[in-house]
Amino acid sequence: MDLKKKRIYLSSPTINGYEMSYIKEAFDTNWVAPLGKNVNEFEHEMASYIGVEDAAALSSGTAAIHLAVKLAGIHRGDVVFSSALTFAATCNPVVYEGGTLVFIDSEKDTWNMSPEALEEGFKKYPYAKAVILAHLYGTPAKVDQIMEICDRYGAILIEDAAEALGSRYKGKNCGAFGTYGILSFNGNKIITTSGGGMLLSDNKKAIEKARFWATQSREPVRHYEHKEIGYNYRMSNIVAGIGRGQLLTLDEYKKKKKRIYYHYQKAFHDISDIHMNPINPDGESNHWLSCAILDPKLVQQGITPELIIEELEKENIESRPIWKPMNLQPIYSKNDFIQIDSSNNFSIGEDIFMHGICLPSDIKNTDEDRQKIIDIIRKVYFK
Ligand SMILES: *Cc1c(COP(=O)(O)O)cnc(C)c1O
Repeated sequence: MDLKKKRIYLSSPTINGYEMSYIKEAFDTNWVAPLGKNVNEFEHEMASYIGVEDAAALSSGTAAIHLAVKLAGIHRGDVVFSSALTFAATCNPVVYEGGTLVFIDSEKDTWNMSPEALEEGFKKYPYAKAVILAHLYGTPAKVDQIMEICDRYGAILIEDAAEALGSRYKGKNCGAFGTYGILSFNGNKIITTSGGGMLLSDNKKAIEKARFWATQSREPVRHYEHKEIGYNYRMSNIVAGIGRGQLLTLDEYKKKKKRIYYHYQKAFHDISDIHMNPINPDGESNHWLSCAILDPKLVQQGITPELIIEELEKENIESRPIWKPMNLQPIYSKNDFIQIDSSNNFSIGEDIFMHGICLPSDIKNTDEDRQKIIDIIRKVYFK
């Protein structure tokens, strides 16, 4: 690897310059902690951006999922369906609460949870209590169908919109559909607070409860009284200041991410063996990460995602495999997995994992950077 070459990142934080004024205000008023104005305002601003009644700013997206799982009333032995093709943080919090995870395969159209497989899941586990749905790489899932199934079986929908802040489905923001929605502001997400997350809901009482749990479940009395287990999950006033600044340029970042996606799409237009990750015609993606998927016959010929990742790495360019599906993870090898057609050797999620690759989607990358990436991939293909 040539380290003299500037590193081209997959998706790194993009500071816009507005963050500092909010942080400075917190410092100037000596309000770096606890909580404070930036936290309150960030919650209001994000709730109104997404279109939900209330929001709780937390230390991570994972913490937000954990509290959503608690609000959904998941206890030992309760079955919870989760997207299989996602990052582990989507589903791990179910295990914190002793719930039983059953993984649902993807569908080809959006790479997200297959409504047909979810229906099969409910036929097998009609009393499943909740569904955790991830919108992968910013592409909205088939929300209407998933919601209809959840309603019919009386299950609570938790929407993991960690990768889909600013994505929309039928005109409404991802994160606003589920009983609970979650966002992440981790360093590689479309906007970042350096690390943080948010729980979204139209149920103000539920958000109030989440804030209570997130501050150690301290009863509202002077002495330290605890009737429930608590967590230290709140976002700090400094971190929230970064978030308020970042939120001001979210729409601009979305536009830039979209341009990246269509740049790649155009560049591979003449190669019928390379496709971009799907978009949902009923929605609008934030294009958090642009991904390519290789025709299986390329992979048989040795043109694998690993090979492309290695070729890019030689030029100090960061790319990544697709998330490895949860049903293939050693930690979840005993959990049930629901797929529609098990006659194939591979599930749909596994197929995407084996043939897909996350391309550099950092909005600071230049057109020339991207051309370099495109040239490397074309060279691998046409060699
Ligand atoms: C990033 C991510 C999370 C976790 O968010 P953190 O803020 O890192 O805890 C959860 N789900 C998905 C799909 C993610 O990509």
